[in-house]
Amino acid sequence: MKIPFFKTVLSEDAIQAVEKVLRSGWLTTGQYCQEFEDKFATFVGGDVQAVAVNSATSGLHLALEAIGIQPGDEVIVPTLTFTASAEAAAYLGAKVVLVDVDPTTLCADISRIKDAITDRTKAVVFVHFGGFPADIKPLLNLCTPLNIKVIEDAAHAIPARRNGTHIGTHGAAATVFSFYANKTMTTGEGGMIVTPNADIAGRCRLMRTHGINRDSFSRFNGKSDQWRYDVVEAGYKYNLTDIAAALGISQLAEVEELRQGRAHAATLYDRALKNLPIIRPPHFLEGDEHQHAWHLYPIQFEGGREVRDRVIAAFADHNIGYSVHYTPLHKLTFWAQNSVQSNQSFTVSDAYFDRCLSLPLFPNLSEPEIEHIVSVLTDVLNG
Ligand SMILES: *Cc1c(COP(=O)(O)O)cnc(C)c1O
Repeated sequence: MKIPFFKTVLSEDAIQAVEKVLRSGWLTTGQYCQEFEDKFATFVGGDVQAVAVNSATSGLHLALEAIGIQPGDEVIVPTLTFTASAEAAAYLGAKVVLVDVDPTTLCADISRIKDAITDRTKAVVFVHFGGFPADIKPLLNLCTPLNIKVIEDAAHAIPARRNGTHIGTHGAAATVFSFYANKTMTTGEGGMIVTPNADIAGRCRLMRTHGINRDSFSRFNGKSDQWRYDVVEAGYKYNLTDIAAALGISQLAEVEELRQGRAHAATLYDRALKNLPIIRPPHFLEGDEHQHAWHLYPIQFEGGREVRDRVIAAFADHNIGYSVHYTPLHKLTFWAQNSVQSNQSFTVSDAYFDRCLSLPLFPNLSEPEIEHIVSVLTDVLNG
C-alpha cells in the first residue's frame, strides 16, 4: 500500500471552472480574481478586504511593505516555520529576529517575543502552526501600545476559527493565506492578503501590479481615456491569474468539506496513537468554538531522534509519505548568518525538531490507510 504524504483533491466543478476560464479568452487577473477576493472576504467574515496574490510569500512581502517596513527595522519571526515567513522582511532590508515557540501550541512564544522587542522592532510575523488557531489577543495587547504591527502568516490556517470567528478577523494589521499546491485549499500557486485596514489593502493592490495607478487618471473617465495610467512606485508583479482564481473560488466553496476530511483523519490518528509514547499535535476537541484547519498532523516521539529516525526508515521501506516541519530557521545556513538571535535559546524548537514527524494528512485519507500507517509505526515502537 503506497500512501503519499499529501494528495490534492479536486472536484469536477473545479476542473470545469478552470476549463471555462481557459475557453473565455481572458486568462490573467480579471473578473474571477475580483469574485475570488469578494467571496474570500465574505467567507473570512468581519469587515475585511481581500487582495489576491500569486503566493503567500508575495502577500507577506506586500503586507510588510504596506505597513512601512524599512531597512534596519526589526521584524520578529518564530524559528519554527518555513523560510517564507522570514524572507519577506529580508527583501525589505529589515533584520529578522528569531524567537522560540510555545511547547503546547508550537506557535511563537509571547514571552520570548516580549524579550526580543527593541526600539527598532516594527512588526511580528505570527504563524498559526499546522493550522492550529492560536489566540493573538495577548500578542496584540503587547504590540499595539508599542506601535508594533502584527502580521499573521496564516498559510496553514484556512479554515481555522478561534472563538467562533475565522483567523484573519482578530485584529492583526494583515493576515496572509497560501494556496500553494499542498495547502488546505489550492490554486496551484496563489495567496490572499486579508486586512481590516483600507490603506493597507490599497497599498497592497497598488504594489501588486507594478505600482500602476489608474485612479489618478480617472478624472478623464471617458472611454477614449481607458489607455491612460500612471506609475507612482516601482511595484511588483504579484497578481493572481483568473485561471488560478477560478480554481480558488471552487476550492473555497469546498474548503469546509475538505477540512472535515482531514479532521476525521486527525481524529482517527488521535484514537490510534493515544496509548503510545507519542506527543500528539496541539488541538481542540471538535465541536468547540475553536476549529483547527488541520494542515499538518505533526507528532513527537518521546523516545527522541533515534526512534523518529527508525520510523522514517520504516515509512520509506513501506512507501509511506512523511515530512518534517520544519528545520528551525536558526539551523539553516542563511538564517544562521543573517538573523538576530538576541540572547535567545531555542530549546523548544530544537527538542521538537529532534523528535518530530508529520504524518500523511489529506481529505480522503482512508481508515485502512491510517491503520496501515499506525501499524508500521507501532511495530517500530515495539522494537
Ligand atoms: C507555504 C508557506 C508559506 C508560503 O506560501 P507560498 O504560497 O508557497 O508562498 C509561508 N509560510 C508558511 C508557514 C508556509 O507553510
